[in-house]
Amino acid sequence: MAIKKTSEIGSKVIRSRSKEVEKITSLRVKKIIVDLVDTMRHVNLVGMAAPQIGIGSRIFVTEIRKTITRKNISKPDPLKVFINPEITKTSKKLVDGYEGCGSVASGGLFGIVRRPETVSVRAFDETGEEFELETSGLLARIIQHEIDHLDGICFIDKVTDTKKLLGRQEYIKMGRKK
Ligand SMILES: [Zn+2]
Repeated sequence: MAIKKTSEIGSKVIRSRSKEVEKITSLRVKKIIVDLVDTMRHVNLVGMAAPQIGIGSRIFVTEIRKTITRKNISKPDPLKVFINPEITKTSKKLVDGYEGCGSVASGGLFGIVRRPETVSVRAFDETGEEFELETSGLLARIIQHEIDHLDGICFIDKVTDTKKLLGRQEYIKMGRKK
């Protein structure tokens, strides 16, 4: 168990394409997963990709915890591990939603990103089992955000309108108004 330092934009690992995992059930991969989960929970994020803890491997985790779920946005979703993920299908319908990122201003900057509403993703879990998941809403957004990380892409590259960027306090205020 270890809480790792979060890599920030500007670092090479955040801007590089991560490598496919070859030995999915290896001890090395198990350790990366534990560190990702510990760090994600510590910094209170809903998803975290290996490059964000300095490791260029195609692994990410997601967890929508009850305490950070805002009303009417999404229901909680248990911890999920994605190794060598691939998006196999996306909806034509696109939706706008605010995103932030632990690697951008310590999660203190939020901007609108337009993404497919529904995605299907195929990946391996921590036991080496392959699975396919179709999802929409917040989890679909998180999955796309994290896969972008594995390709060296950051949400700020995709922000639709920089004039609508929000700092943390303004983002929280906006949430209250809803
Ligand atoms: Zn991010």
